[in-house]
Amino acid sequence: MKNLALHWQILIGMVLGIVFGILASSTGLEWFVNDWIAPFGTIFIKLLKLIAIPLILASLIKGIADLQDISKFSKIGGKTIVLYIFSTLIAIIIGLTLVNIVNPGDGISQETIDTLTANYANDSSIQKKMETASSTKNTGPLQFLVDIVPDNIFKATADNGSMLQVIFFAILFGIGLLLIEKKKAKPVIDFVDGFNEVILKIVDLIMLIAPYAVFALLAKVIVSTSDPDLLMSLVTYAITVVVGLLLMIGVYLTIIALYVGKSPMWYLQQISPAQLLAFSTSSSAATLPVTMERVTEHVGVDKEVSSFVLPVGATINMDGTSLYQAVAAVFICTALKHDITFADQLTIVLTALLASIGSAAVPGAGMVMLVIVLESIGFPAEKLAIGLALIFAVDRPLDMCRTVINVTGDATVATVIAKSEGKLGTPKPKNWDDNYEAVK
Ligand code: ASP
Repeated sequence: MKNLALHWQILIGMVLGIVFGILASSTGLEWFVNDWIAPFGTIFIKLLKLIAIPLILASLIKGIADLQDISKFSKIGGKTIVLYIFSTLIAIIIGLTLVNIVNPGDGISQETIDTLTANYANDSSIQKKMETASSTKNTGPLQFLVDIVPDNIFKATADNGSMLQVIFFAILFGIGLLLIEKKKAKPVIDFVDGFNEVILKIVDLIMLIAPYAVFALLAKVIVSTSDPDLLMSLVTYAITVVVGLLLMIGVYLTIIALYVGKSPMWYLQQISPAQLLAFSTSSSAATLPVTMERVTEHVGVDKEVSSFVLPVGATINMDGTSLYQAVAAVFICTALKHDITFADQLTIVLTALLASIGSAAVPGAGMVMLVIVLESIGFPAEKLAIGLALIFAVDRPLDMCRTVINVTGDATVATVIAKSEGKLGTPKPKNWDDNYEAVK
């Protein structure tokens, strides 16, 4: 196993995890997976989250301090936002086009709606999602700007959900470093640089257990999935989402081939460990340290670009989520016979764009913001729980798939910006044991 490329090791772990999960489910051993296997997956996710904030802080401060002038930073910032909005719009348009062609909501019988409603409409996690959505909605239009500015850096770094606040502080700190005397800035930059290297080394160490962790994560997903019959009743809807997501991969790879001038196969090989982890963890935030490591060391994107573009992307750029929200909104409306006009579809484009920016990079967040998309087109509030119940059974597998696209979108935009800025160099992968001999 040791000589296999990392993505193969992870894939083998995933397949074995699925097989083990199926065996455990069919022999009544779900408790064994929950008690003795799943905790290892949780530990892995905690380890990744543990280093996310220090990694953003160190790499972004270093990235900005390395810039020769501040105007370069605002140029990268501007390009990042424009490309993120553009890629999200493409995703939504693909989703809407597909759902209008396939129309998966049409084939859903009243009986299926009744079964799904009975199973899930009162499910506590659906109720919780609706509550979160309504508290998000009850804020003013500029609240998001207010939220980006931290009032206490320790509080911000103590909460993985405050990534944008940490990014804000790191940018401010980096700019401060650029503006002070070189002599005074040097020790701080050297410290941050060394700190950054240590964190990246820890990513390598954590990745050593990735193949085992994905085994645990997928075994857990399988023993927690809903009744296969219910999954089957939603198969056309699920396939519509997955085809849309695959088309997005096609879009990214075309851009990589035509604009960046790299082979799509090579590119996929470099970023696949991040994609596989996105699939296994359903969280782009948890995957972020690995995405950063792969894009910087294996694709060759300069830290100046990746340290800003990727953390921002993990929080605001969710192409897969927005595509899913567009498909799910139209699916729910058609299945529950709520008419939608062309103007409603345009509203979906806008709200899905905003909703994906507002979705947290954690499992199931896309479904919370779907509530807001549905409300924007006048979907009756009393039917919301039924609407969510309709798609709940397949939400986890679709979440896994859309998170892969979210992460791939971030990586692709980072690569494109690096190319356009002349910051795409030769990859220099590092291994966890590069200096091991000396300290053994
Ligand atoms: N799980 C997704 C992510 O972390 C968000 C979502 O669509 O639920 O990227």
